[in-house]
Amino acid sequence: MTEPSAVARLSRDLTSALKADDLEDFYRDLHRHPETAFREHRTAGKLAGRLRSAGYRVAEGVGGTGVVGVLENRDGPVVWLRGDLDALPVTEATGLEYASTTAGVMHACGHDLHLTWLAGAAEALAAGRATWSGTLVVVGQPAEEVGGGAAAMVRDGLHERFPRPDALFGQHVTPGPAGLCSHTPGLIMSASDDLDVVVHGVGGHGSRPESTVDPVVTAAYIVTRLQAVLAREVAARDAVVLTVGQFHAGTQHNIIPAEARLALNLRTQDPRVRERVLAAVRRTVEGECRAAGCPVDPEISVRSGFPNTVNDAELDASVAAVHRQVLGEGAVFDFGPAMGSEDFALLAPDGVPYAYWFLTSTPPDVWRAAPGDDLQQKLDRVPGNHSPLFAPDPSVLMPGVLTLVSAALTRLAS
Ligand code: ZN
Ligand code: ZN
Repeated sequence: MTEPSAVARLSRDLTSALKADDLEDFYRDLHRHPETAFREHRTAGKLAGRLRSAGYRVAEGVGGTGVVGVLENRDGPVVWLRGDLDALPVTEATGLEYASTTAGVMHACGHDLHLTWLAGAAEALAAGRATWSGTLVVVGQPAEEVGGGAAAMVRDGLHERFPRPDALFGQHVTPGPAGLCSHTPGLIMSASDDLDVVVHGVGGHGSRPESTVDPVVTAAYIVTRLQAVLAREVAARDAVVLTVGQFHAGTQHNIIPAEARLALNLRTQDPRVRERVLAAVRRTVEGECRAAGCPVDPEISVRSGFPNTVNDAELDASVAAVHRQVLGEGAVFDFGPAMGSEDFALLAPDGVPYAYWFLTSTPPDVWRAAPGDDLQQKLDRVPGNHSPLFAPDPSVLMPGVLTLVSAALTRLAS
């Protein structure tokens, strides 16, 4: 493998040959025109167009709206770089000159920035192909936010139709003083499951509860009892979040409804803890329904959206080493695993190592103005991903290209 310093030099050379203005325009255009999961037709077309102009063989419509670009450049390793296409149903409140022009939709998770990084890296590596050998595969993945995009691409033949990777790389923008990079060897993102619960009671008149089985009260007991599951059945060392995100029941003041519906989200970092909590949720829901005398068993369905994201420690260390060279020794941190989730890991065929990292993007003035004395206090107060105020600093545009290019070159540079 080539020395980190040589890879860093080469990465800087290739990246500095890009036109920064042109990439900034691309970013602003994507930000103005956000599209939600599996509807990223315009966004996918823009990425595909840039890849084609840069000399990639491009397939569109992979797993719905996914884009795959392949650049074969002599014998050598196969490296996949991934970005995500989708925006969120959020009404933008940043007041930016290039704010969303689509009502109720916003690039509030920074996937527009991810695609700009991806396009920039693809172009820099294509223009500099004389300096490396191997195959570069650029993956524009749809629907990361709803957890279906990576699986849809795999079902559509991602692993059979394109060269099999030796390594995969992905990166995500996150709050924090702009320009830092967080690398975590091993587990970096949590698993996420969505659960839907239906409590079947017996409806009736609000004045005669004795003739009903009130599903509102039963569902309320379920919500509170689940807090005790976390407090009393999970060890202090195990990270778990269980959120009741929806509670729907009833139509009118004086009607006891016949059913109540709950929507839960579970985040875990250990498959054994996940199984344990899922079993406890089932037991709690069924037990409360039995205690209330529900005439029909409750329905509980689990949709597993995201697996754990577990970096290959060796691969991640080699990428972190080159990132220290390109960004500066003090710019690379380990924030530790996040409770957030990703479907990036599903893109990797079984056993193929991957590395995923975060780049911080809070504008310097916003960071300075945030109340608090330490990093954590400030982090809790600056606009984060999914906030209507989330506005990454444009200064992170070229650094994000550089981190992707240098990661790819750790494997491709000859
Ligand atoms: Zn997101
Ligand atoms: Zn995201």
